[in-house]
Amino acid sequence: MDIIENAVAGKRYVSTGRRVPVFNPATGEQSAELPLSTLSELNDAVASAKKAWPAWANTPPMKRARVMFKFKQLLEANADELARAISSEHGKVHDDALGELARGIDCVDFACGIPQLLKGEFSRNVGPSIDTHSDRQALGVVAGITPFNFPAMVPMWMYPAAIACGNTFILKPSERDPSASMLAWNLIMDAGLPEGVLNIVHGDKEMVDGILDHPDIKAVSFVGSTPIAEYVYQRGTKAGKRVQALGGAKNHMVIMPDADLDQAADALMGAGYGSAGERCMAISVAVPVGKETADALVAKLKPRVEALKIGPATDKDAEMGPVVTRMHRDKILGYIDAGVEQGAELVVDGRGFKLQGYEGGYYVGGTLFDNVTRDMTIYKEEIFGPVLSVVRAKDYAEAVDLINTHEYGNGTAIFTRDGDAAREFADKIEVGMVGINVPIPVPVAYHSFGGWKRSLFGDHSIYGPEGVHFYTRLKTVTTRWPAGIKGGAEFSFPTHK
Ligand code: NAD
Repeated sequence: MDIIENAVAGKRYVSTGRRVPVFNPATGEQSAELPLSTLSELNDAVASAKKAWPAWANTPPMKRARVMFKFKQLLEANADELARAISSEHGKVHDDALGELARGIDCVDFACGIPQLLKGEFSRNVGPSIDTHSDRQALGVVAGITPFNFPAMVPMWMYPAAIACGNTFILKPSERDPSASMLAWNLIMDAGLPEGVLNIVHGDKEMVDGILDHPDIKAVSFVGSTPIAEYVYQRGTKAGKRVQALGGAKNHMVIMPDADLDQAADALMGAGYGSAGERCMAISVAVPVGKETADALVAKLKPRVEALKIGPATDKDAEMGPVVTRMHRDKILGYIDAGVEQGAELVVDGRGFKLQGYEGGYYVGGTLFDNVTRDMTIYKEEIFGPVLSVVRAKDYAEAVDLINTHEYGNGTAIFTRDGDAAREFADKIEVGMVGINVPIPVPVAYHSFGGWKRSLFGDHSIYGPEGVHFYTRLKTVTTRWPAGIKGGAEFSFPTHK
C-alpha cells in the first residue's frame, strides 16, 4: 500500500502522524495511506520556509521566473501521469483532469511574467530634488489550504504566484486526493526550486488550525466550503494574518425566452454534470423565464440527462465519473430524497445507478428536478453533485431576484440573444463572475477569480493581478540626496512647494 509523504526542506519523508485511508472512488478500494502530520512537523516545515525566504526573496525576479518556465515545461511533459493521479483519487474523467491541469498550467504561465508584474512606479521631482518610487515586496512564509475538487489546479492558483513574488510556501492539500500535489512538487524541484521554498504537509482540521495560529505564517489562501472558509478567515485574521478564503456556491443560469434552447441545454449538461457537479463554478440551478421556455427546456434536458455516459476515468467514453467519497455520495442521495419529500418534481432519478464491475464505486446518476422552489433545501444548499434543479421564473425580474437574494455569489450565466438584457444582467447582478452565453465563466489566469457574498471572505480575489497583490505589500520610498538638502530643521508638515 502506498504511503503518501510530506515534502519539507527539499526532502520527502513519511510523517509519524495517525493514518487515514485514501480511496479510488471508481472502485471504492483503498489506494493509499495518508499520515496526518503532527504540529511539530508543521513547525519544521515553517522553519524550513523561513530559512529559505531571505535568499529566495533576494533572487532576481527573472531567475525566479526561469524556475516557473521550466516547471511549466515539466508539467506539460508529464500531463498524462498527473491527470491519471488526479482521476484515481478524485474520480473525474481523464479529459477533465487534463483540462484542470491545463488551467493550473495557465497560472504557472502567468507567474513566468513576474518581473513585469512586480515592476514599480517612479515619480521624479515630487518636490525640489525629491523622487518617489514604490514597489511591491514579498510577505515571507505564506500558506495554502486546498479542497478536493481540483487537486492540481487550485494549489496552482496559489503557490506559483506566491513563490514567483518571492515568498516561501506551505501547502496543505485535501486529504482526499493528495497525490497530484506530490507529483507536482517533484517537478518543481526538478525545475530548480531551492530547498524549503515549497513545502507540503498533509493533515486535517488540526493542521489547518496549526497553520492559522502559527506566528511565522504571514498570509493564508483557502479554498473550500463556506462554513470552513468563514472559520479560516475569522481565525486567521484574528491571528493577524492576511487571509483570502473562497467558499461554496450555488450558481444559477438564466435562460431567456429568446435563447437558443439547444445551445442552452448543451451548456447545462456540461456545466451541471461535468466532473459530477463537483465544481465550484458548476451550474446547479437552471432558471428558465416563462412557462413556454421552461417546458421546452425540460423536454430537451430529460433525454440528455438520461443518456449521460457514466463510468470510471479509465473508460474513454465516460462523460462523468463517480463522486469523491462514499460519505459524499450518501449526502447527495440524502439531498435527492429531501427534494422529493419537499415536493420538487423528480424528472430523472440518479439514485439507483449501478455500474457492472464497479459495484463498490461511489456513483450517482445524473439527476434532474423541475418545479423547485426557493424554500426547498435542494435550492438553498450547495449539493456538489450531479443534480440540476429547474426553478421556473415568471419574468426576468424574478430570475434576477432569485440570484441576488441567494446567500452565495460565485458564478452565474445568462443565455439570451438580447444584448440589452445581457448588459443589464452583467451590470446589476450581485455575483462575482458572470457569463453571457458562457455557462462556466472561470476567468483566465491573467484576470482574477472570486465570488461575492458568502462565496469569498477577504478583500482579494485569487490568482492573476489580485493574486500578486495578495502575496505582496506596497512599499513607497521618498528620496532626497544630500546635494539638495538645505540646512536647518523644518517643523511644518512637508508640502510640494
Ligand atoms: P472542505 O471545506 O471540506 O475542505 C477544504 C479544506 O479545509 C481541506 O484542505 C480540509 O482538510 C480542510 N478542512 C475540512 N474541515 C475542516 C475543519 N473543520 N476545520 C478546518 N479545516 C478543515 O471542502 P471540500 O469538500 O474539500 O471542497 C468542496 C468545497 O470547496 C465546495 O463547497 C466548493 O464549492 C468549494 N470550492 C470553492 C471554490 C471557489 O473558488 N470558491 C473552488 C473549489 C471548491
